[in-house]
Amino acid sequence: MLYSKFLLPTMKNEPSDMDSTSQKLMARSGMIRKVSSGLFYYLPYFNMLLRKVSYEIRRSMDAMHCNEMKFPILVSQEILEKTGRWTAFGKEMFSLKDRNGNGYAISPTNEEYATLVAKMFIKSYNDLPFSVYQIQQKHRDEIRPRNGVIRAREFTMKDAYSFHATEDEAISYYQKMKQEYTNLFTRLGLKTFAVKADSGAMGGNLCEEFMAVADEGETPLAFCDNCGYAANLEVVPVTNTYVEQNGFKGRYKKVITERAHTVKELMDMLQMPATSFVKSMVYMADDKPVVALVRGDRQVNEVKLKNVLKCNVLELATVKDIEKIGSVCGFVGPVGMREDIPIFADYEIMQMQNFVVGGNEKDIHLLDVNVKDFSCKWVDLRFAEQGDVCPICGKPLKTAMGTELGHIFVLGQKYTKSLDATFIDNQGKTQTLYGGCYGIGLERVVASIIDQHHDEKGLVLPTVVAPFKVDVIVVDTKNEAQMETATMLYEKLENAGIPVLFDDRKERVGVKFNDFELVGIPIKVVCGRDVTQGMVEVGVRETGTVEKVDIQHVVHTIQNLVKKG
Ligand SMILES: [Zn+2]
Repeated sequence: MLYSKFLLPTMKNEPSDMDSTSQKLMARSGMIRKVSSGLFYYLPYFNMLLRKVSYEIRRSMDAMHCNEMKFPILVSQEILEKTGRWTAFGKEMFSLKDRNGNGYAISPTNEEYATLVAKMFIKSYNDLPFSVYQIQQKHRDEIRPRNGVIRAREFTMKDAYSFHATEDEAISYYQKMKQEYTNLFTRLGLKTFAVKADSGAMGGNLCEEFMAVADEGETPLAFCDNCGYAANLEVVPVTNTYVEQNGFKGRYKKVITERAHTVKELMDMLQMPATSFVKSMVYMADDKPVVALVRGDRQVNEVKLKNVLKCNVLELATVKDIEKIGSVCGFVGPVGMREDIPIFADYEIMQMQNFVVGGNEKDIHLLDVNVKDFSCKWVDLRFAEQGDVCPICGKPLKTAMGTELGHIFVLGQKYTKSLDATFIDNQGKTQTLYGGCYGIGLERVVASIIDQHHDEKGLVLPTVVAPFKVDVIVVDTKNEAQMETATMLYEKLENAGIPVLFDDRKERVGVKFNDFELVGIPIKVVCGRDVTQGMVEVGVRETGTVEKVDIQHVVHTIQNLVKKG
């Protein structure tokens, strides 16, 4: 590829419309430009990287005997209602109506179509296991698109679906897929781990997320160095070692806390630490009010609360909702709460004494409250933190941030039952199929490669994913000898099957070196003054090393460097 003809608009300065290191680097290295909130132009260099990732994904899917196909992007409301997902996906799903008024969703994922394909082609147990996948654009109406292409409204996903005669077979295929994902991410130069996650709107029993550790990742994780346990923080159980305090009852007194609504404001006013407060949060669980209590410095883990309540929709109550239950926003508390409102308290509160809660009246809090002053159900409701004990081995947990790259599920019969996908078993009986699904977000893979492979000058792409392995740089394009040598090397390398970016631009050589470092091409070949002595310089991006090489040996030298990765 001639740089002079290639759309690779690098930027010297940090773009102001990108909000993380990987996204800034993607814009600076000429990969993306923002169109509007959550929508991006993918420029050629980014597309080339996505193609590399797709190629490696296809290798892995081939290894799993998975059939590549394409499902329609539009899914009818009727089909999604059969599986309950028209409502389960809620506002994140883009939907539209055709000219006859029929409802469609722009498919967020394709369990329904995959199940219908299985239903069409699987006749008997001889056809099992059966799996299909596609690599397709997906759309989600994100509330707050952020982090560039990582949480965008349009993205590329590999979604695979498998079908089995029994749950055991589904689990065994899932385990093989998990291993294949590990192989794939390792090949792509990524450090990842599989963590347990909540299955959310997808349904199903067994599921794990593949996380790439990233300083600016958006998913908090907990892991244990001792036993290898790793999980999304939202599902990490906090081991309950608390004993309910016998404590006092009825000792509390009212205190006027005008203008203090938040724990922070109360801390300042009452000169007490956050650990002396109990936060009371009102939620609407399928439109019914519930109160959740956590210590003042903790956050309610809504995934845990949702699982406790077994509800479909959990939302924070509005000011009006709170008034309806006879309380006041900012002053909610468990003491004197209407008896028909269920209160769920985090175990940790069991061991607290003489704490502060809202008084359910404007500008009123209660001091010296104890657990005997109200009735509640004790549950695990908070997020685990660094130093909490590992649920498997009891050693201290560590926390980190991660970017989710993929998600794998054993779905059981959730979709096959509602869409009536069956097969004839070896006894001649009709049985319902078991399913699994396996996703990967391609933009996230590229962003994570950049996250894990860059330095202060730009990208340091691993050779396996680099779209160009070599940058042939001409120091002075007006110098005929230099141009001749560079053109000859460019052609020789391309003929040897090594993709080259030939920097033939009429730019200063400093600009060319900066761009080489910014876009992260693994190797550079510099054709300068020494070409008259039959020599060029070969440099390696990762190590910064440069050596003089005889022009006759350049192709051989580079073949060796590429092989080494
Ligand atoms: Zn452990």
